[in-house]
Amino acid sequence: MARAVRVKAKKDEPARLRAIVSGLETLYPDAHCELDFKTPFQLLVATILSAQCTDKRVNLVTPTLFARYGEPATMAEATTKDIEPIIQSTGFFRNKAKSIVGAARVIMEDFAGTMPRTMDELLTLPGVARKTANVVLGTAFGIASGVVVDTHVQRLSGRLDLTQHTDPKKIEQDLIKIIPQDRWILFSHQLIWHGRKVCQARRPNCMECNLERLCYSKDKTV
Ligand code: SF4
Repeated sequence: MARAVRVKAKKDEPARLRAIVSGLETLYPDAHCELDFKTPFQLLVATILSAQCTDKRVNLVTPTLFARYGEPATMAEATTKDIEPIIQSTGFFRNKAKSIVGAARVIMEDFAGTMPRTMDELLTLPGVARKTANVVLGTAFGIASGVVVDTHVQRLSGRLDLTQHTDPKKIEQDLIKIIPQDRWILFSHQLIWHGRKVCQARRPNCMECNLERLCYSKDKTV
């Protein structure tokens, strides 16, 4: 019986995908990045700090951090010891301080103090992988270079059968193929919001999920 349902779902896959995209549009038309920032550099720093940490916690430390080191020039002059006490509560603070100061120095030395605006250039910054680069390009510059794959996008893409992969790079490649490029930026925000509000890791609230009829996850609670 379960097999028959799955075969039907695969046959109707384009319609199911369109319904998922439009269901997320209806639910979260204004989905956006919840990190506080004023410049692309500040978003880069906040995104690095958000690894293994909530946006809420990051937003508590960045006002102090940005008041002193809000530009690449001032951050590049700082030492990791200056930064560590300010960002300690975000976890993994030694590595994060190294990445942030290192990124600022590369921006000053290789990009004349201007934030790079391409994936290849952003990937040369210490501590920056595709997820962080996609956040900066999409949210700060409005450039749809890919799809942000964080822990929520990873989990929901699996539950909604948008990918069979678990590796973020492969998940991103799958999403790029099935989501129209003009939806890439908003779609990741929408999946992240749905992951935070409804489809949580431990116990998804499927009773309240408007994608329920489109979802065949073994994690479903209804
Ligand atoms: S039905 Fe449940 S598992 Fe599927 S997307 Fe909705 S909340 Fe997540």
